[in-house]
Amino acid sequence: MKLDILAIGVHPDDIELGCSGTLIQEVKKGKKVGIVDLTQGELGSRGTIETRMQEAADAAVIMGAVVRENLKMRDGFFRNDEEHQMLLIRTIRKYQPEIIIGNILSDRHPDHGRAGHLISDACFLSGLLKIETSDEKGMPQEKWRPKYFFQYLQDWYHEPDLLIDITDAFDQRMDAIRAYTTQFHTAASESGGPVTYISTPDFLDSVTARARILGRRIGVKFAEGFVSDKKIGLRGFDGLVMNET
Ligand SMILES: [Zn+2]
Repeated sequence: MKLDILAIGVHPDDIELGCSGTLIQEVKKGKKVGIVDLTQGELGSRGTIETRMQEAADAAVIMGAVVRENLKMRDGFFRNDEEHQMLLIRTIRKYQPEIIIGNILSDRHPDHGRAGHLISDACFLSGLLKIETSDEKGMPQEKWRPKYFFQYLQDWYHEPDLLIDITDAFDQRMDAIRAYTTQFHTAASESGGPVTYISTPDFLDSVTARARILGRRIGVKFAEGFVSDKKIGLRGFDGLVMNET
């Protein structure tokens, strides 16, 4: 299945926190959006593999993703090595996305940065003819390099190269985040589990505050920020936010 945009996160919920507003808006415009989680987040202090998989499926429906796949790498212990790169290259070639959105290259959780580098390397290597891969049926895959790899902001602040107005998608974005009832502060999460860095009301407040601050930079209510190593090319000024800042 060919996708327009493939969003990749090392833990189920990385996508929701980092770029779900953007994905929701692209789906509304008719873009085919898919999600790949690298791990099942099995080292998370709250919830189980089963509850996180259900939460991820619920969030995918809220975001309008056409597919959500889990590569079942080992949470905390996967490596940016040939084995993991080949697995991701096969996935990139399977979906042939024009744009990949993935983890940032350095962050509080070391998995995020390692995943960001793994995704970045796989994006490039996937475009090399002499790296041969096959699909699930054993048929050879064609090389494929996405045109852009955008990294979504996570816990640490990085100066973004691109800000996208997500004001119209903000409520849906928060619904997608709250689909992780075992991870974040919701009515359901009060039932138990250890208090974690992300399970308090303060964390969700900080998610909203980040979007507000980024929004102010471009004169809108809410925005998501992305880092791009590659220069972003426009065909014209259509699509630029024209508010005064
Ligand atoms: Zn994460």
